Amino acid sequence: MRVFPAAIPLEGKTVIVAGYGALAETKARLFLSSPANLIWFAGTKTDPASVDAALQTRVIPREPTREDLRDATLLFIAGGDEAQVSALSEQARSLGVLVNVVDSPAQSDFQTPAIVDRDGIVVSIASGGAAPVLSVDIRAAVERVLPARVGVLADLAGELRSTVKSVLGKFDDRRAFWERALRGPARDKALAGDKAGARREMLRELNGENDAPAGIVHLVGAGPGDPDLLTLKAARLLREADVLVFDRLVSQGVLDLARRDAIRIDVGKRKGDHKVPQDAIGNILIDHARRGLRVVRIKGGDPFIFGRGGEELEAVRAAGIECQVTPGISAAVACAASAGIPLTHRDHAQTVTFASGVVKQDGQDANYRALSAPNSTSVFYMGVGAAPEIQRKMLDAGRAGSTPVALVENGTTDQERRFFGTLSGLADLVTNNAINGPTIIIVGETAGLDVAKRAPTEMENFA
Ligand code: SAH
Repeated sequence: MRVFPAAIPLEGKTVIVAGYGALAETKARLFLSSPANLIWFAGTKTDPASVDAALQTRVIPREPTREDLRDATLLFIAGGDEAQVSALSEQARSLGVLVNVVDSPAQSDFQTPAIVDRDGIVVSIASGGAAPVLSVDIRAAVERVLPARVGVLADLAGELRSTVKSVLGKFDDRRAFWERALRGPARDKALAGDKAGARREMLRELNGENDAPAGIVHLVGAGPGDPDLLTLKAARLLREADVLVFDRLVSQGVLDLARRDAIRIDVGKRKGDHKVPQDAIGNILIDHARRGLRVVRIKGGDPFIFGRGGEELEAVRAAGIECQVTPGISAAVACAASAGIPLTHRDHAQTVTFASGVVKQDGQDANYRALSAPNSTSVFYMGVGAAPEIQRKMLDAGRAGSTPVALVENGTTDQERRFFGTLSGLADLVTNNAINGPTIIIVGETAGLDVAKRAPTEMENFA
């Protein structure tokens, strides 16, 4: 260990920045959200009106005096000539202030690490000044894996610490409590922004009211296939899952993000000719959560768009089990982006509607009159088998046969194919190209917009 990343409490402390320009401003900004008393002596060259509005009240337009430095804990010096810098450093040091001269490790008592700031949790990445760019990249990686609200969880633990200590006398009991509290549902509630709920959960745990082990079910949107299109939260939940319940729309690249020893349950597998029925899926989720496990039900696209997520949420909550929903990028949005088709456009489409191509037995069909309005975009999920009916119903409802259509099969995956045509040729487009993978059908003026911009190699897909 070449440097030691000590953590200095900032509550009630004074931090002084001396200097001007962007470097001084950056250092000052670092302490804005901290409890420290921040003072920026910006010299006479800085016009306070020109700095960040949030910093303006902290600016004093002169150099610091010995008296100013007396109560400081940290001093950052940015800019100034050599003689000024060393005079100021000497003065500060003689008063017991720790000095950092920006960009000059040799003159500094400490270096500024790359910081991931989550309030209650602060991660510091120090390279001893040797490779700041590397530190910045590592910071970006940490930012990605650290939940945005982990600080809320830490704050809550801080607030309850003394209560826990008075209730649980033994160190081992306290540690066991914190392990349960910080990894169980309280954690999920805090990370979802429900601090009050998280506090209740921790107190229940503390009072021994959690008799059953507390599992949780997360309904998580996996996006359309490309793992890069997962949300940060979905990626984290996958890494943390004890049990993964998935079906065929979830790509291998996404499943690969889960722990290798997580239990994997494929409910998309056909048994005989039937998928696992919906109520059986609900029971799988409930049974595993009751054993105290973290269950992630991962679904293609978004769980609440033609994903039957509503039914699973209802079943799990009815069983008295915590259930949270994490949205995903739905196929319509992903395929439109991939094909360069804006779903709305000020000149061509004022509304967009997501519709299902299949109708539940005895169920209600989509409103084709509404779907066929001019200057609107209609996006069909599960429409490949029903392409002839979609075509007929749209034409019957008055949509022009010349309306552009676009089909995106296996959108965002390596097998993606795109086809363009018109409404009167929709069914033929499906048959002639043997389209049979998951496909989004976009009908509307905007589906024709991209034609001129498409790369020549894709023109063969134009019917
Ligand atoms: N919840 C999912 C939709 C599930 S319904 C979502 O929000 O995307 C299944 C339908 O989604 C498929 O029939 C197909 O129309 C569409 N779909 C899912 N993934 C797709 C993909 N990668 N490319 C094109 N369409 C896809």
